[in-house]
Amino acid sequence: MTAEVINGKELAAEIKAEMKAEVSRLREQGLIPHLTVVLVGDDPASKSYINGKKKASGEIGISSQIIELPSSTTEKELLELIDRLNHDRDVHGILVQLPLPEHIQEQSIIEAIDPAKDVDGFHPINVGRMMTGKDSFLSCTPYGIITMLKSRDIQIAGKHAVVIGRSNIVGKPVGQLLLNENATVTYCHSKTADLKHHTQQADILVVAVGRANAIDADYLKGGAVVVDVGINRLADGSLTGDVDFDSAKEKAAYITPVPKGVGPMTITMLLKNTIKAAIGLADH
Ligand code: NAD
Repeated sequence: MTAEVINGKELAAEIKAEMKAEVSRLREQGLIPHLTVVLVGDDPASKSYINGKKKASGEIGISSQIIELPSSTTEKELLELIDRLNHDRDVHGILVQLPLPEHIQEQSIIEAIDPAKDVDGFHPINVGRMMTGKDSFLSCTPYGIITMLKSRDIQIAGKHAVVIGRSNIVGKPVGQLLLNENATVTYCHSKTADLKHHTQQADILVVAVGRANAIDADYLKGGAVVVDVGINRLADGSLTGDVDFDSAKEKAAYITPVPKGVGPMTITMLLKNTIKAAIGLADH
């Protein structure tokens, strides 16, 4: 069997075309969705991510602004900025790029963002609403993954989904979203004994480990759906996922590549959340 590749870049382009039309309608009604991105420090990877977010926003007509602060910024100064943005009626989405410098408590910053503007979906109110199956901002990578599965009408209900990774931004929420879709979910992580035993039972396997080629065909059940979240930079500068794509695609039914997989979907879901925030705030 050779797997069908779910191309996240193509799917993202389709969704962005729909959102562009929606933003244009909102603009005609006088509502210009606006995203403010805050970067503290000068981490090159973070800079490249935020520039990608700004570019994607512009492509579909979302207004955006990047606020760059020096790494010496104090937690108090950052909290004051967030307070100003929370009260700014023209700002609908607030994203503080992580990681933050060590002297700033990430959780305090996440909790300071107005949940109605929390387009990353990291605020405990949004996490809690997601857990209880209520309307909320879904964190972008898990939201992108579910959207990829649904784009191919892949059945989730009743299937055994195995998630490798338990981070707050990927592993835990993607498992919860799969559970919300009625999958039976197993979480695996660095302390899991006999990882292969679990992954070989997965109808849907989500891999978010952060180690190049950690999972090959040996770990898969034939006909599995494999979602590769990993982004690993190799010595030659190229990007690769956590899954050994060439071997896995001979055994899986569906597979997401890296690049052009989950990555482009993550940014697209951020734009979706920004539009949702703009509409939600305008209704108040
Ligand atoms: P993380 O480092 O916070 O979490 C990694 C997880 O992998 C941990 O929960 C750990 O328990 C687990 N793990 C580590 N070694 C393991 C092993 N040997 N066996 C089983 N589990 C093991 O990382 P993260 O933030 O969740 O990101 C994971 C990967 O996804 C990274 O490569 C990251 O760059 C990528 N990522 C991609 C996107 C995207 O948009 N495509 C978004 C976020 C993260």
